[in-house]
Amino acid sequence: MEILVDMDGVLADFDGSIKSIWKRFHPNKSLVDIYNRKTYYLADSMPESSKNLVSEIYTSQNFFLFLPIIDGSKEALEYLISHGHTVRICTSPIKEYRHCVSEKFAWVERHLGEEWIKRLIITKDKTFVRGDILIDDKPQIKGELTPTWEHIIFDNGRAYNKGVPSRRYINWKNFRKVLGI
Ligand SMILES: [Mg+2]
Repeated sequence: MEILVDMDGVLADFDGSIKSIWKRFHPNKSLVDIYNRKTYYLADSMPESSKNLVSEIYTSQNFFLFLPIIDGSKEALEYLISHGHTVRICTSPIKEYRHCVSEKFAWVERHLGEEWIKRLIITKDKTFVRGDILIDDKPQIKGELTPTWEHIIFDNGRAYNKGVPSRRYINWKNFRKVLGI
């Protein structure tokens, strides 16, 4: 199988980092309940007055570099490779790309090793990338083309991607069962 795997929220813990940095820099300001938020983009669930504080965090230097790795993800990727599957990491950069793009490469090298750099695809439109499946936490993925892949939603315990009709769900504990491998 050709398997595409999203990065933020699937391999790298974007929300966890936001939460800990927020606590450190804005201890007296409340942050939206990250796990129960209904919107995919965190800032969309924040009051107008705090939106820019969230974007200040994720556009800052080293934010993407220091995202913690999500439990079980590395082992799952290695399992897929060792069982003969073609695996690519397929991720979209934020609009403020300056730090994000290079730090995504550095993150992959740091957590998965140098040989994974060649498996990293950074694109704003994932429908241009071919594959059999795309594992991604975003509830709806749109682009210019009709995708070749089936979008299987990564179930990371968030409310924003629950109950999408006719989609399968997957996580790093049940991926073998869901994929039938
Ligand atoms: Mg994601």
